[in-house]
Amino acid sequence: MIEVDCSELSGDAKLKLAVSISEGLEGTGIALLNGDDIVVDQLSGRKVENKEVQSLVEGFFSSGKKASLYRVESIGSTIVVHSAEPVPADRKKVTNSLPPGFFQCSVCGFVAASKAKYDNHVRMHDLMRGLAR
Ligand SMILES: [Zn+2]
Repeated sequence: MIEVDCSELSGDAKLKLAVSISEGLEGTGIALLNGDDIVVDQLSGRKVENKEVQSLVEGFFSSGKKASLYRVESIGSTIVVHSAEPVPADRKKVTNSLPPGFFQCSVCGFVAASKAKYDNHVRMHDLMRGLAR
């Protein structure tokens, strides 16, 4: 399991980062929100490497306007995101109301950036439940 320490990011940024990691892993893993952290869960197939997640995190921040404000560091199996811009404590929390266009899975906390992706994700749970029967 790979962890991304996002304690210096706002709730919105955490959600967007989680979505971006999930999409980058293309089905081999999903990124879930867990308090201040994002946890990457292995789904199936090949092993998700720490370096792969780190490069997705770096890619996410290097594409933004404020790229120079962020620094990504790897400490053991944890990837830590540092922000030069302090985030007020009340904006750090992921609120129950997601930004428009985001959908969160009630089973595992997975965040999807479109209804179609959300439906696909929920179907995966159904499939897994079916297999366990
Ligand atoms: Zn789920």
